[in-house]
Amino acid sequence: VSEQVDAIVIGGGVIGLASAFALADNGRRVALFDDHVGRGSSYAAAGMLAPGAETTPEHACLAERSRRSLDMWPGFAKSLNSVARHEVAVHQVGSLFVGWSAGDRRELQRYLDVARQQGIDSTPVTRSADPGAFVGVATRVSEGHLIPGDSYVSPEDVLAALEEGVIAKGSLIVRQRVLACGHDSWGVSASTASGTWQARCGVVATGFQHSPLSILSSSPRQLRPVRGVTVRLQDNELMERPVVRAMIDGRPLYVIQRPGGSVIVGATSEESSHEVVEAEAVRTLLHDACQIVPHLDRARFVGARVGLRPATADHVPFFDELGETRWAWSSGHFRHGFLLAPLAALDAREFAGRVAP
Ligand SMILES: Cc1cc2nc3c(=O)[nH]c(=O)nc-3n(C[C@H](O)[C@H](O)[C@H](O)COP(=O)(O)OP(=O)(O)OC[C@H]3O[C@@H](n4cnc5c(N)ncnc54)[C@H](O)[C@@H]3O)c2cc1C
Repeated sequence: VSEQVDAIVIGGGVIGLASAFALADNGRRVALFDDHVGRGSSYAAAGMLAPGAETTPEHACLAERSRRSLDMWPGFAKSLNSVARHEVAVHQVGSLFVGWSAGDRRELQRYLDVARQQGIDSTPVTRSADPGAFVGVATRVSEGHLIPGDSYVSPEDVLAALEEGVIAKGSLIVRQRVLACGHDSWGVSASTASGTWQARCGVVATGFQHSPLSILSSSPRQLRPVRGVTVRLQDNELMERPVVRAMIDGRPLYVIQRPGGSVIVGATSEESSHEVVEAEAVRTLLHDACQIVPHLDRARFVGARVGLRPATADHVPFFDELGETRWAWSSGHFRHGFLLAPLAALDAREFAGRVAP
């Protein structure tokens, strides 16, 4: 096979798919390559769009990008919904932050202070003043903080809709791994086991993986995988509620209770490239979730998912144009790939407009 398209995207996680969709939506014929579309780190994600909830002192510089991308989500979902079968809804339910012990509450306060410095406001709330905010939360928790703007999307729907959107716009999803890429003054090329594709420009969005794409070795960027596990439960009694975010015995936890009763509990975080769900991760997540939201004791266990988050040293993502080539590298989205997908998509679109108008 040898085919020519306008743009190549390597990697079909949320960043590659969003980039391909933006390029296709902009009238380009794209070929996106991945032998396991949607099964990288994106497969394990919870889909939170929560700049406030994700802000830690270490990630302070991310806040502005995060808020900007959150603002872009409704428009991004709308353009997807105009072409895809799976509907993407942005659920703006807010987050309720709670701490289990006095030490946990102090730790939480530290996070909220950082968030406030970055313009993300939270409101203190007590159970006696607003019992509705604490429905389902363990009775020993009597106070917390609300961040109203926090939202979530269904990661499954987003990935499915992006795939459908790319195809609906006349572009291709090639379910093959790219083994090598090249470039010349005209453009770029990507080779799989069955052929070579050429295009005017290309975006590499392979999460934490970069070998065997030698083009990336020219970049000084270092990525490391940070393993995370989420657990899926089903509780048919549930109604949609604010995302409950907790600090429990020093461990961060979130519980997303979605319409239809599906629940996502997350997430562990370990420096590891071993993509397995260890029993201890499931045990800890379930233990902590059932402490904070006790009726989850009765929920049906659906499964656990693991992903390797792509992390840079400072946890800030990047969109780098690679030297004199028409390749760009988009990665390092760490805990925020879904939140930051509209911004990554815009970066890809602007890059293509610049190097291959
Ligand atoms: C447990 C967990 C919970 C999370 N929760 C959230 C959340 O609530 N909100 C949020 O915003 N983010 C969340 N994240 C982070 C988010 O999932 C990541 O930032 C995001 O998935 C990164 O997307 P990506 O497309 O860069 O990488 P990936 O999803 O890893 O995709 C990379 C793709 O590239 C493909 N690939 C690699 N090499 C090649 C090659 N040579 N040829 C072709 N294809 C190739 C792989 O097969 C893979 O499909 C979470 C992550 C984890 C692990």
